[in-house]
Amino acid sequence: MHNNLRNNKKSADFYSLTPLISTWIRGLTDQKKGLDDAIMEHGSPLNIHEKQSFLHNMDEMSAAFTKYDLDHRIFFARKANKCMLFPQAAFEHGHGVDTASYRELKQCIDLGIKAEHIVCTAAVKTDRLIALAIQHGVSLAIDNWDECERIQHIAEELHRHVHIIVRLHGFVSDGKRLHTRFGFSIADVPGLIDNTFGKGNIFSQFVYKGLHFHLNGYSTQERADALWQCSELIEQLTGRGIKTESLDFGGGIVMNYLSSKEEWQEFDQAMQQAVRLEREELTIANDGLGYQLIDGKLHGQLAVYPYYNEVNKASFLEQILTTAKDGMPLYEKLRSLNIQLRIEPGRSLLDQCGITVARVSFRRLDTKGNLLIGLEMNRTQLRSSSADFLLDPIHIPTEKAIEEPTQGYLVGAYCLEQEFILKRKLRFTQLPQVGDLFAFVNTAGYMMHFYESEAHLFELAKNLVYNINDNTLILDKLEEF
Ligand SMILES: *Cc1c(COP(=O)(O)O)cnc(C)c1O
Repeated sequence: MHNNLRNNKKSADFYSLTPLISTWIRGLTDQKKGLDDAIMEHGSPLNIHEKQSFLHNMDEMSAAFTKYDLDHRIFFARKANKCMLFPQAAFEHGHGVDTASYRELKQCIDLGIKAEHIVCTAAVKTDRLIALAIQHGVSLAIDNWDECERIQHIAEELHRHVHIIVRLHGFVSDGKRLHTRFGFSIADVPGLIDNTFGKGNIFSQFVYKGLHFHLNGYSTQERADALWQCSELIEQLTGRGIKTESLDFGGGIVMNYLSSKEEWQEFDQAMQQAVRLEREELTIANDGLGYQLIDGKLHGQLAVYPYYNEVNKASFLEQILTTAKDGMPLYEKLRSLNIQLRIEPGRSLLDQCGITVARVSFRRLDTKGNLLIGLEMNRTQLRSSSADFLLDPIHIPTEKAIEEPTQGYLVGAYCLEQEFILKRKLRFTQLPQVGDLFAFVNTAGYMMHFYESEAHLFELAKNLVYNINDNTLILDKLEEF
């Protein structure tokens, strides 16, 4: 049986997707003993987080604003990762947190994060969440008329004013109106604030503070266009005697996961060939990851995050801020408004901030002869809205053996046929053994927590914090809640 496993050396060529790996991740994944001990203590899989990388990302993005002398604050979008480490670090570093639920907000308040360093952009706001925000003076981003009425009602009951950020839609880019299900139309905002906010009016408890939008997708041009349109709105409001203190352009600031553009492009090409049945499959059951063959023709595109990005983080922000209109750069326009610029990055602030590690439980072949490596984890513990996480994992063997490349798939613990940790076929330089580890790099943004579930009553992955100074792994504070 085990000889069969070794014979599974398909001749097919393989398309690597080599991840960018920072020094702390290299160092930690080189110490198998330490990871084994942590897995023994806490169970497998483990999510391991690191703070300095987060602060580095904050500094890098902050510098893009400082360069143009723009007042700014970065609000970490907490939904991308549930650990307490990052909100606390963001606050201690002079920045803030974007919260979207009662518990996200409550924990931030309990951590001692000040109200001016928190915003609440929850899509659905419960009465409990609204009351908590109002009692602590946290700004609420309003999204629809019904919730405005509830916020007004709760603020009246509490005899408190409420800081309001107006979420906007209705931006035009490249001649088209950008679609979203969120916010108020930019055209309606002057009327909304003038006629309903403040003394004697419908929303008498509302104090207007600023504007907010978050665009789907990753276009710098669309963000720039929206910022130009917001700037005009802010000037219009100023003309009516309404002061805007902040302008928040949300998240979606891209990051880069991969070390090679060629690898990324070649993989994409090879995927298309595989779906056209012109080459051996690269994914389980030739899953197209968004590509489809219909009547012999290829349709669609990779339905995944754009894992390779040359323009990312600070340079992405810079590309937005330096767009020009009638000869004037956007940063100059924004500076003239005397406002605080805000962003709410989730994923990109977590670049190189986390890894997920799991232990090999078994090897076997499926009925087609594919090698399956069973990991002590399930696929919801490494999952985002992308069709697949397109980065090669790090295989950490118990013993280094002679290189004997083999190919196969990583499978997880849920009892479903489609329970593949990664859909992509992987190459292993040596046959994985029971007790070996696999580390998935750069999983802190969305991959760990966004879709994790507890089917079969499997324990959720434990969240640890790695301290690069003393080489220790301790539980994140979240685990005490
Ligand atoms: C999801 C979200 C973010 C964060 O988006 P990223 O792509 O992780 O940067 C920020 N603001 C709002 C309102 C969001 O819904």
